Amino acid sequence: MDMQTSFLDRLFESGLLIDTGIDGLYGRSGQFEDVIAAFERLIDTFGGADGAEAMRFPPGMNRAFFEKSGYMKSFPQLAGTVHSFCGSELDHVSLLQCMEVGEDWTKGQEATDIVLTPAACYPLYPTIAKRGNLPETGGLFDLQSYCFRHEPSKDPARQQLFRMREYVCMGTELHVTDFRQRWMDRGVEMMKTVGLEVTIDVANDPFFGRAGKMLANNQRDQNLKFELLIPITSAANPTACMSFNYHQDAFGTKWGLNLEDGSVAHTACVGFGLERIALALFHHHGLDVKHWPASVRKALWG
Ligand code: ATP
Ligand code: ZN
Ligand code: MG
Repeated sequence: MDMQTSFLDRLFESGLLIDTGIDGLYGRSGQFEDVIAAFERLIDTFGGADGAEAMRFPPGMNRAFFEKSGYMKSFPQLAGTVHSFCGSELDHVSLLQCMEVGEDWTKGQEATDIVLTPAACYPLYPTIAKRGNLPETGGLFDLQSYCFRHEPSKDPARQQLFRMREYVCMGTELHVTDFRQRWMDRGVEMMKTVGLEVTIDVANDPFFGRAGKMLANNQRDQNLKFELLIPITSAANPTACMSFNYHQDAFGTKWGLNLEDGSVAHTACVGFGLERIALALFHHHGLDVKHWPASVRKALWG
């Protein structure tokens, strides 16, 4: 049995994660949720004075915005769409017959106007573009959403439905790269206060296909993405628990996000993988929160 399976099994046995029969789709215990809530309060204490505008979107987004985002060009393998039955009574009869004999009943389902949110910041850009030019101070937003990615895995740190807390900054190049650097420093400091050793490294997104290799190399060469890594299921391949993305003016151009003077906004986003951070805490300090170091408990629960 490999390490990953055994950590997942221990999480199931302890009840922290609840098996649903699907890899990467788990229930969470009250204790697990309490750790996430405490860590989010810690995020609030680090970011609270910045005055970000909080918004919460549901885990589904407008399909038209998703299409415009270009997600299907870059990550078609990860996307999830919502389909529904839209037929007549006659269609319903054949649907039930189809299910009865164990045939594929999903073929008749039709796409709805909703797709699953792939990253917490995706619904934000069109929302802000609709407001018109940004104020002189730019934009700063505080988001949290369940996100879907079709990447089933036995690694408990790679889930299909997981929560991402994000801060998104819109402004000049200097403004948003300063924001990103500030959160890299804060991320290291926050993890230290909860007893987690981290490294930061340059990274790339898993762009699909052969053309995607070039996009990934370009992203790396230009230092557009950094990750804060913590060993969870493997010491050799630590897990990205935060990411720090600089989009240059790509999203500003795509969505028509403009600064007060009409120039195109640069954007950056910082994402916390909340389940991954909770799992890192359980991995390093043990599955029983009562036995965590006093300093860690104090940082999380005061
Ligand atoms: P990875 O390289 O591990 O696939 P990623 O680069 O895809 O991570 P991002 O797209 O930057 O991650 O997402 C922001 C944050 O969301 C990550 O830093 C991570 O903490 C978390 N995250 C991403 N994918 C998952 C997943 N499948 N399960 C749980 N958390 C995830
Ligand atoms: Zn983002
Ligand atoms: Mg990924």
